[in-house]
Amino acid sequence: MFDNLIGNDDTKALLQRLAVNGRVPQSMLFAGPEGVGKKLFAFELARMLLCADGGCGKCSVCSRIGVFDIPKPEKGEDYDAVFLSDHPDVGMVLPYRRNLRVGAIRELEREAHFRPFEADKRIFVINDAEKMNDSSANALLKTLEEPPSTTYLVLIASRPDSLLQTIRSRCQNIRFAPVPVSEIEKHLIAASRLSPDDASLAARVSGGSVGRALGLEINWFRQVRDSMVEVIRAGLMTGNISSMLQTSELMNDAKNKDRYEDTIGILESLVRDVFALSKGAERLSIANADIAKSLLELSSGATTEKIERWITEIEELQFNYLVNVNRKVATDGLFVKMARA
Ligand SMILES: [Zn+2]
Repeated sequence: MFDNLIGNDDTKALLQRLAVNGRVPQSMLFAGPEGVGKKLFAFELARMLLCADGGCGKCSVCSRIGVFDIPKPEKGEDYDAVFLSDHPDVGMVLPYRRNLRVGAIRELEREAHFRPFEADKRIFVINDAEKMNDSSANALLKTLEEPPSTTYLVLIASRPDSLLQTIRSRCQNIRFAPVPVSEIEKHLIAASRLSPDDASLAARVSGGSVGRALGLEINWFRQVRDSMVEVIRAGLMTGNISSMLQTSELMNDAKNKDRYEDTIGILESLVRDVFALSKGAERLSIANADIAKSLLELSSGATTEKIERWITEIEELQFNYLVNVNRKVATDGLFVKMARA
C-alpha cells in the first residue's frame, strides 16, 4: 500500500494505521501544497477501504479505483455532477474554472445517500475544496454533519485557510508536506527519461511538488527562464525597457497564453534567487542553482528595497490575474515598474 507514492511517510503510516484498525474518519481534509499527491493518497485510501485484501493494488477493485473518464466541459452545468470512477463506489467532484459549483455539491449530497453498489462503503473526493463559495460550502455542511454510515468524504485543499471554519472543524485534518528535492530527483530519474541534470533542475524548481516536476517541459522551461533572466538584467543593469516590452508581447501572444501564470512563477523564483544571492546565500541553496553564476552577477545590481518592491509588484499581478485583468497591460506595467523601481 502506498508503495508507488513518494514522500509524506508519516501521513502514509497514519492512514495505514487508521485503515487497519477500522478507524478511518468519515470526513477528512487532506491539506498541503499543490501536486504532492493528495488525490493519489485519497484513491490509495479508497483501495484500502474497498479491496478485500486491504489495497492489494492488483485486483479488479484496486485497478478500477481512481480511473475516470471525465468529459471536457462545455459549460458550467457539465460539472454539476459527481464523476464516478470505473469502480462505482468511488467518485469525485471537480471545480469548473475557479468555482466548485453548488450544483456539484448537491449531486454529491444525493450520491452520498445511495447505498454502495459493489462494496460496503462509498468514497467521494472533493477536489480543490477551497474553490467552494459560501452556498456550495453550506450545501456541503449538511452532508458533513450527518454522513450516512457507509459514506466517506475526502476534501482536498492546497489553501485550507480559505475554507470556512465550520467546514474545517467538521473534518479530520490530514496534513501533507512538500516532498524533499532529493526524493523527487530520485523518482524522476527512475520514472521518466530525464537526464540527471534535467531531473535535478525539475526537482529543484518544483517547489516540492512531484506533480509539477513530472509535468515540467524542461526545454520550454529553460527557454522561458532565459527570457525572464533578460527581463531581470534589463531591470537591474541595462534599463532596456523596449526589450522588456517585447518579452511582454511574446508572453501574451495567443500561443503562450496558457503558460502565462507559469511564466510569471518562473520570474518570481528567479527574483527570489537573486535576492537570496545578494544576501550571501549559498549558490547550491537556490532553486535555479544551475544558473547561479549569472544570477550572482545580476545580484550585484540589486538592492533590498528594489527587490522587495519587485516582489510586491509580482504578487499584486498574480492576485490581479485571478480577477481577470488585461494581462498584456498588467505585464507592461510590471516591467516598466521593475525598470524604474
Ligand atoms: Zn485489491
